[in-house]
Amino acid sequence: MSRVVVIGAGLAGLTAALRLARAGQSVTLATKGPGGLQLSQGTIDILGYSPERVTRPLEAIASLPDEHPYASIGADEVAAAVIWLGQQLGPELLTGDPSTNLHLPTAVGALRPTALAQPSMVAGDARSLSAHEQRGAAPRSLSAPEARDAHARSLSAPEERGGVSKGLTYAVVGVRQLKDFPADLIAGNLARTTAPDGTRLAANSAWIDLQARPGEADPSPLTYARSMDDEAFAATFARAVAKAAGKGDVVAVPAVLGIRRRGVWQQVQDIVGRPVCEIPLPPPSVPGLRLYEALLALVRAAGVRFIQGSHVTGFTPDGGRVASVTLAAAGGPRELAADAVVFAPGGFESGALSVDSYGTISEPVFGLPLTATDAGELITEKYWGPHPLFEVGVRVDDAGRPVGERGVAHENLYVAGGIIAGAERWRDKSGDGVAVATAIRAADHITGGAR
Ligand SMILES: Cc1cc2nc3c(=O)[nH]c(=O)nc-3n(C[C@H](O)[C@H](O)[C@H](O)COP(=O)(O)OP(=O)(O)OC[C@H]3O[C@@H](n4cnc5c(N)ncnc54)[C@H](O)[C@@H]3O)c2cc1C
Repeated sequence: MSRVVVIGAGLAGLTAALRLARAGQSVTLATKGPGGLQLSQGTIDILGYSPERVTRPLEAIASLPDEHPYASIGADEVAAAVIWLGQQLGPELLTGDPSTNLHLPTAVGALRPTALAQPSMVAGDARSLSAHEQRGAAPRSLSAPEARDAHARSLSAPEERGGVSKGLTYAVVGVRQLKDFPADLIAGNLARTTAPDGTRLAANSAWIDLQARPGEADPSPLTYARSMDDEAFAATFARAVAKAAGKGDVVAVPAVLGIRRRGVWQQVQDIVGRPVCEIPLPPPSVPGLRLYEALLALVRAAGVRFIQGSHVTGFTPDGGRVASVTLAAAGGPRELAADAVVFAPGGFESGALSVDSYGTISEPVFGLPLTATDAGELITEKYWGPHPLFEVGVRVDDAGRPVGERGVAHENLYVAGGIIAGAERWRDKSGDGVAVATAIRAADHITGGAR
């Protein structure tokens, strides 16, 4: 059994730790903070844009440039990695098919491509009604016979909308007290949207008045989500939504349908009597938190030693290897000895890469070689244009070890996730798939399980 230290508790670090622990390694995960998962939409994106919107992400991987982190992994390994993660979390938390993107409404009424989503979101997939039926997404997730009948009725009457085939109609319902879910804007934008399959969407909006905690002036999505852990509150919410919602195939509500209590979405859907989809809000993200808490619980249950609030500041080398990493712990620095290290610290957003006042980019913990070091040349003024700065990171060998001009940096140091160079992950929506696939590559090379 090896002693493996994983650095970082984002999607990459948690996935690597779980995979290593499942393979019988002695794993310590050290992290300074919780990572980006709980700010995320709670979905697993594989590839959303390349540069146009992608509907079949695994096929699209083949056309990515050689520098993209996926290029050295390949579509099959990416699919296997994402499926493995989905199996660990279970179908109550993640569902979908890695070969086909869902197109889910966002909190501004745009459509967002993603591969795996939470079951509570899937009925919002904007592909045509017949695609819904073939895939069985919405009907399969329903338990109430009334909901099934309502959906079947909507399928039986194909219509046209402005000369284009009719797509889904969303009945969007907001909560007056909950900001960041502008139901009118969401419905207005959806109603202007043609779905990727060419069907024309429609939408209407409505509001309910419901306080989660009496007297609270500015409740967050978390306030509502925690209140939903009370079955009676969830039932009150659902009855109000059922009464207010306009006509539509899918009733869309803010993503506040519980954090810890499973089955809130099903309960709400049963009462509403139509397919219900959650639309994630800006952070703090309830679906992101669900994913983070579930993954962390699996990691802990698998026996991983979890040290949070600890910044890794450096390391002790031994020949071409990392002998230990240094933790800035309360009371002074502490060494964690390791046979292998998975470094999964994210990118600029988590402070894993920094730019000093001279515009020099560096990776401060291991001093790893980067694909570029002069930020000045890479910062562009076009807000919506490409931002090459965010493609900067570490180049890796086939095992996921950082390489520079002098070869592999350290024999037993592997990297995973956002630190790897070659993709604007938030723009092409590949960050989640990259995090999961590179974490599994690193873990499998450490355990000798790599193919
Ligand atoms: C604004 C924004 C939006 C994005 N949107 C998307 C999207 O829609 N779809 C998508 O696929 N990707 C998106 N991404 C990319 C996203 O970063 C990845 O999807 C993924 O979450 C990265 O996971 P990670 O584990 O590599 O990094 P992170 O989630 O950033 O986790 C890094 C972890 O390392 C810890 N850490 C860092 N340095 C140290 C240290 N020295 N010592 C100890 N711990 C340390 C941090 O505390 C954290 O726990 C987005 C990124 C940003 C910045």
